[in-house]
Amino acid sequence: MSSGFLRHAAADCPWCGGKLTRLIDVNTSHTALARWNLSWERLQVDTCVNCGCYGVIYMELDGNGAPNWSTYNRKPDYLPDIELEEYSREYLQVGPQLTLSGIPRSAYYAAVWELDSHSKFGGYPGWVQDADYPNCPCCGRSMLFIGQLDWSDMEDYGEGIYYMFICPMDRMTATTYQQS
Ligand SMILES: [Zn+2]
Ligand SMILES: [Zn+2]
Repeated sequence: MSSGFLRHAAADCPWCGGKLTRLIDVNTSHTALARWNLSWERLQVDTCVNCGCYGVIYMELDGNGAPNWSTYNRKPDYLPDIELEEYSREYLQVGPQLTLSGIPRSAYYAAVWELDSHSKFGGYPGWVQDADYPNCPCCGRSMLFIGQLDWSDMEDYGEGIYYMFICPMDRMTATTYQQS
């Protein structure tokens, strides 16, 4: 099965009530993921793109790799009231146009996606601000980088970058966000 990007997930965000977004849905045998030997078939990273720019959002993966909102999530005090109709869902049109390159590039190369961008899968994060790896709430260790999505590629007025991380041992993913 091919890779999928930027789709609506089934569940709603408990904080703003909007639909969660499935940032990626990629086979765990992909070269960028294979080194982790994940025991399930697809790596799916969900987040709320409305709330996710205000803090870390963790998702717990079940035995089949299906993401569920983590009980470790803590609503940021500074989360504004989110008026859902004011938030663009333009990026949903872009998802089907994204493809993962089958050819591994240098780990530092920023544009593994077929877009001229800072979006990438695997390698090292291209931080907008200081390096900031989230810690896994289960084991406390620094989480591993999966990839990043440059929101200026996804929407006309989009900005900032969503970063995706995983703790393979605890089946936990996280997203963070930075902008200049
Ligand atoms: Zn939300
Ligand atoms: Zn962990």
